[in-house]
Formats: sequence, C-alpha cells, structure tokens
Amino acid sequence: MPTRPAKHQPGPRCAKKHLPTQARRIRSSSRWNVVRDLYRGKNPLCEKCGKFAKHVHHVLPLETHPHLAFHLENLMSLCEPCHVLEHGGHTVEQAIDDMRETR
Ligand SMILES: [Zn+2]
Ligand SMILES: [Zn+2]
Repeated sequence: MPTRPAKHQPGPRCAKKHLPTQARRIRSSSRWNVVRDLYRGKNPLCEKCGKFAKHVHHVLPLETHPHLAFHLENLMSLCEPCHVLEHGGHTVEQAIDDMRETR
C-alpha cells in the first residue's frame, strides 16, 4: 500500500496576507496625512537618490513600531523605485500599501 505524506495545502484564504488593522488605521488617519504632508514638504526629494519623492516611508515599520508612526525621525522621503527596494521584496504588500498613502 503506497503511503502518501500528508501535506498541508494552504487554502485560498491563506493566500492573501492581511496587514494588522492598527497599521491600516494609522495610514488612513487624518493625523498621518498631516504629518506626512509636513514631512514631504520639508523633504521633497528622495533620501536615497535625490529624485522627486512620491512616498513617505516608515523606517521602522508601522506593523512593529506603531508608536513611532508620527515621529519625524522615523520617516523617510522616497521615490517609488527606492521605496519598493527599501521593502526588499519580502513585504511588497506593505510597500504597495504605503504607496496608497500618497495619491
Ligand atoms: Zn529614490
Ligand atoms: Zn514604506
């Protein structure tokens, strides 16, 4: 009798990761909008390459450091390519979510 190893098959529900709601709430808050615009107004250029910065990135991610969400020292102006690189491919979803911050 052939024995088949029982494998865990991730269902369609596992396929999509969800960000913690706290980080989402911060991103959609009016306070974050104000802090982000303030920061981008002071730092309009990408801090990596000097191009026009479209995004404001959290150096220590909101997911793990929500208490630093509004600390200017934890923010970084980045252009789109640098921002994606900054998220290193592991958290592309997070980068995409940050992008929604700046329309
Ligand atoms: Zn850049
Ligand atoms: Zn980011």
